[in-house]
Amino acid sequence: MTDADVLDLFRRSGALLEGHFKLSSGLHSGRYLQSALVLQYPDRAERLGAALAERVRALRPTAVLSPALGGIVIGQEVGRALGVRALFAERQDGALTLRRGFSLSPEDRVLIVEDVITTGGSTRETIAVVQAAGAHVVGAAGLVDRGGDPSRVGVEMHTLVKLDVPAYSPDACPMCAAGQALVKPGSRQ
Ligand SMILES: [Zn+2]
Repeated sequence: MTDADVLDLFRRSGALLEGHFKLSSGLHSGRYLQSALVLQYPDRAERLGAALAERVRALRPTAVLSPALGGIVIGQEVGRALGVRALFAERQDGALTLRRGFSLSPEDRVLIVEDVITTGGSTRETIAVVQAAGAHVVGAAGLVDRGGDPSRVGVEMHTLVKLDVPAYSPDACPMCAAGQALVKPGSRQ
């Protein structure tokens, strides 16, 4: 899949909107990105997972690990395409942990899979879960790279597309200055 194919799939699913949006942070943006809206279609999730798997196959992972909740669906699809286990880590008392009997061994080569990589904070946290289990991290993968420096996650990183989602405080927002109507995504208009 090309960058344009991926973005087209997001747009057709309502997962990427252009306009003037109030984000949950209170900041305003000209773009709204919600990957769960494309991943709700299993055939689209499978296509995206297969495309991402092709980018990371050479890393020869033996398992994928995703942070809950956002990474679970795409992690499952990447695991399916690679023919390896798909695990997820979830928060317990504030810290990401392997629960439900999930385990990793020192022989495991683990790929971290997320939907969107922004600051890289959750990726780094998920890497630490793998290291605490004594397994080896071979890289990180995501559908969308929203950040700048690819070295920010500390391991080799692969994404399908790079996408800026610039955010402005209301008093510095160019769409507000232009008098464009503000939309709160997810609310019925
Ligand atoms: Zn605005």
